[in-house]
Amino acid sequence: MLLGPPGSGKGTQGERLSAHLAIPKIATGDVLRAAVRDGTALGLEAKGFMDRGALVPDDVILGIMKATLAAPGAARGAILDGVVRTVPQADGLERLLTELGRRVAAAVLFVISDEELVRRISGRTVCESCQTPFTGLEPGTVCPKCGGTLVRRPDDEPEAVRNRLRVYQAQTAPVIAWYEAHQVPVVRVDATGTPDEVAARIQQRLGD
Ligand SMILES: [Zn+2]
Repeated sequence: MLLGPPGSGKGTQGERLSAHLAIPKIATGDVLRAAVRDGTALGLEAKGFMDRGALVPDDVILGIMKATLAAPGAARGAILDGVVRTVPQADGLERLLTELGRRVAAAVLFVISDEELVRRISGRTVCESCQTPFTGLEPGTVCPKCGGTLVRRPDDEPEAVRNRLRVYQAQTAPVIAWYEAHQVPVVRVDATGTPDEVAARIQQRLGD
């Protein structure tokens, strides 16, 4: 289970762990999109909410998650990326895993300062014309690929990032306490530095 704020590198590290341990990485958004694409009953139910611009309820997401975790591809385990953001979701996942005879072996918490995240996320721009993402190029720069103009997404503006981080902190602190109370080891990893440095810390802390 990977826990951490937006921009902390969970996705990148999840991919690396997935390759290293030869088990799939499961992210809520990917699993939802796959269920909608495959047209499963739960996928269609989820699509109904998404088409109305509503949040997909936890029980629908957990149903889709259960099918994914019960599939042969996840028989040896999985890396859950961003699956649990709230205490009700932690409760729901626990019930589901118990039904499957499985458990969360460890929760890896990505630790990084808000200032570093604001710097990382607001350092991203995207080309208005060809949509190519860039890091380290200021808004207004000419796109090196197509000559268009680079802009910063509204979500990546420093104040928007600070808001997202406040929401994250408010939701995640109780989730961490929940896992500690349920005897799941919470492994805190320094998420600053290069992806290689972070990957080395995670593997060292997980004893692998
Ligand atoms: Zn461009």
